[in-house]
Amino acid sequence: MKVFILGSGLTALALAKALVNQNIFVDLVSSNKNHKINHSRTIGISKSNFNYFNKNIINIEKISWKLNKIEIYTDKNKNEKILNFENRNNQLFSIIKNHKLYEVLNKHLFKNKYFKKIKPKKKLIKLDKYNLIINTEYNNAFTKKYFSKKIEKTYNSSAYTTVINHKKISNQIAVQIFTKIGPLAFLPLSKNKTSIVYSIYNSKDVDRKKIIHLINQHNIKYKIKTIGKIENFELKSFNLRSYYHKNILAFGDLLHRIHPLAGQGFNMTVRDIELFINIIKNKIDLGLPLDSSVNYEFEKNFRHKNFIFSNSIDLVQEFFNFERKLNNNFLSKSVKIIGKNRFLNKLFTKVADKGINF
Ligand SMILES: Cc1cc2nc3c(=O)[nH]c(=O)nc-3n(C[C@H](O)[C@H](O)[C@H](O)COP(=O)(O)OP(=O)(O)OC[C@H]3O[C@@H](n4cnc5c(N)ncnc54)[C@H](O)[C@@H]3O)c2cc1C
Repeated sequence: MKVFILGSGLTALALAKALVNQNIFVDLVSSNKNHKINHSRTIGISKSNFNYFNKNIINIEKISWKLNKIEIYTDKNKNEKILNFENRNNQLFSIIKNHKLYEVLNKHLFKNKYFKKIKPKKKLIKLDKYNLIINTEYNNAFTKKYFSKKIEKTYNSSAYTTVINHKKISNQIAVQIFTKIGPLAFLPLSKNKTSIVYSIYNSKDVDRKKIIHLINQHNIKYKIKTIGKIENFELKSFNLRSYYHKNILAFGDLLHRIHPLAGQGFNMTVRDIELFINIIKNKIDLGLPLDSSVNYEFEKNFRHKNFIFSNSIDLVQEFFNFERKLNNNFLSKSVKIIGKNRFLNKLFTKVADKGINF
């Protein structure tokens, strides 16, 4: 059995590793030669996905930092939490630097006998020798031909990311502040490093100086020593209308891209990988071929769930955006009341951990 993967992002590498772990041959090609890896980007992985990753993809224990609490504030009242998610004795989320995850995945893939990286356009690749073709790229011929129809939304916002170095503290609580200009997250990476993701509306005139000023304005717990390189990404969300064409399947952010405010984009992909691998395992166990029926089952089981999940993240974004426009804190007051309800708080925590698959 042989799978062909197009792409070199985290999705392509994590999926390739999950497949070779099942003794499936993977050939990977990336049409993007100049893919720069951002050193300021981090990924928060939920506890369930972290466990799945460790067991079925690769052990990421050593490159992760565990969080046991997430506090949500608005800038109307800095001392008053509107929501609080906690797992006192255990981890809620783990934070990992993107580039470390690339490194670990690449290192282990390249020494795996089931894996081969092919140079693009060296010779014409014969696609009919592959059972399945997985596409994770935005601009290749497959995407243009089969994966261009989507439900899309632009946020008129950009996410600014950096890492701050600060004095050592016990750093296991993530903080998200819904500020007047957008959500700002402090995501601990170690005792003396914290990653920042600031999604800013209408961010045309924002430069490094302004971001540093804003971080300092909202920071209440860190004694900052230095602030790293600041990178920015335009934000949009979309869901593909169709997940596959015959034996070609779209995957990762190409399938569904969401606003980063809840740190769920890659988490959705890890859940997709789990489902995809389960479908493949079942086929192999039953002696069935790996063909377009895998893609059919994947779409049938997951498209509606992914759509609902993406929309719920969008709803959270719209909710706080609406309050920002209203310029009052009526909505966050109601969130505070809802968040105090133990059942609802548990439910939110579960959805952030497992998506809507529990
Ligand atoms: C600011 C921010 C914070 C986030 N935080 C979280 C989080 O905490 N938790 C979480 O689960 N998700 C988070 N996400 C989402 C997560 O980063 C994505 O879901 C994930 O990185 C998508 O990986 P991918 O391989 O599918 O797509 P991509 O990384 O976009 O890659 C797709 C393809 O595009 C190519 N490519 C990518 N970047 C470039 C480039 N710069 N130049 C040229 N080609 C390129 C790659 O080669 C690849 O083949 C965040 C996203 C953003 C923007």
